Amino acid sequence: FSLGSSTGSLNNTVAEGNADDSINVVVRVRPLNAKEIQNNDPSIISFPGNGQILVEGVSDRIGGTDGNGPKTKQFAYNIVFEPGATQSDVLMYSGMTKLIQMAVEGFSTTAFCYGQTGSGKTHTLTGPPKLFEKNPDPSDPEHGLVFRSFMYLFQLLKDKRDVHFVLKASFLEIYNEKVIDLLNPGLRKPLAVRWSKKSRSFFVENLFTVDCEELDDLLAVLEEGMRNRAMGAHMMNEHSSRSHTILTVHITSEQQMENGVFITKQGKINFVDLAGSEMTKKTHSEGKTLEEANNINKSLMVLGYCIAKLSDPKKKEKEHIPYRDSKLTKLLADSLAGNGVTLMIACISPAKSNVTETLNTLRYAARAKRIKSKPIVVMDPREALIVTLKREVAALQTENEHL
Ligand code: ADP
Ligand code: MG
Repeated sequence: FSLGSSTGSLNNTVAEGNADDSINVVVRVRPLNAKEIQNNDPSIISFPGNGQILVEGVSDRIGGTDGNGPKTKQFAYNIVFEPGATQSDVLMYSGMTKLIQMAVEGFSTTAFCYGQTGSGKTHTLTGPPKLFEKNPDPSDPEHGLVFRSFMYLFQLLKDKRDVHFVLKASFLEIYNEKVIDLLNPGLRKPLAVRWSKKSRSFFVENLFTVDCEELDDLLAVLEEGMRNRAMGAHMMNEHSSRSHTILTVHITSEQQMENGVFITKQGKINFVDLAGSEMTKKTHSEGKTLEEANNINKSLMVLGYCIAKLSDPKKKEKEHIPYRDSKLTKLLADSLAGNGVTLMIACISPAKSNVTETLNTLRYAARAKRIKSKPIVVMDPREALIVTLKREVAALQTENEHL
């Protein structure tokens, strides 16, 4: 833990992670649903172990193979969750707990679910809607990753008695490139995304941010946002498959070091439920106005470009990464770019009828896995100055004591 470069330089780096920490890609395969079973729509996915996935019967048309008929395609990831995996397995084995630990240490982190509509993104992050109706049972096995992460986070903070933590949470939706506050639904106006010189990242202006002293406060944010999202969904068809949601937990910690110096760190966790990945193609479909077509999934397309560029070491050096081209990528830039940590959960259906989208998701996930960067903790320059001044004061005091 070095304070060496904390004044003067623009990047007030105080701690570095490993390149291996920067992105973790896992795949979750949902069970066949009742409709697929009824339609004799078989599973084409199998699991040879070691994070591998086999997709059977891929035709030349969609798989781009050699013209000799259906093939089996193979992919490998950090972890693969089979249809029998539980919600608790996803928290424990996805790398999410490590991500939470890093956020507590001051890193910007993001966990996002990617996949076609109906592949299990919302189920994985938040669980079924019944959990947001009234008085959900905290021990319900269907609680998703967000709920479980909150529990884990509070457990972690309880064990760190020497550190003072302040938690704040916000919950927003991006629909048609407009940012809507899910905690302030009365506000009909979309919010602006702006650049903050101070924190060197983008932020949403006037976004409602709730102080969360207790676990229940965080859970209330989740429930309130989910209810407001569901209400919006009734007003418009396909709403939830076209919108992205970001629930953010900001974690500020203040700790007094042995030499009396206080260190303040700002970490965060973004939980992102993305629009259905099939939308990137539907964007060009008929019956849309130009603006709608351009906006429907600009965010998802730009995220794809950013991931493609970040994952190609040659391009990454030469070309700029187009974070600024969409609302979603602006807000995730600090986690995706050099200084953050990301968990991608690629959600897929096992059914034969979904093979095209399943292959697209698996390829996208394979590409994301190649991203390498070095996460860093960034301190606000003013904060860094205070730390240095406090350190100097402490040093003078020690000197005095020895005179
Ligand atoms: P998405 O958010 O990707 O559109 P959902 O999470 O809404 O998809 O999932 C679609 C349906 O499949 C829901 O009824 C959900 O409860 C069910 N489902 C998804 N994943 C699982 C799973 N792992 N186990 C059981 N049911 C699941
Ligand atoms: Mg969903």
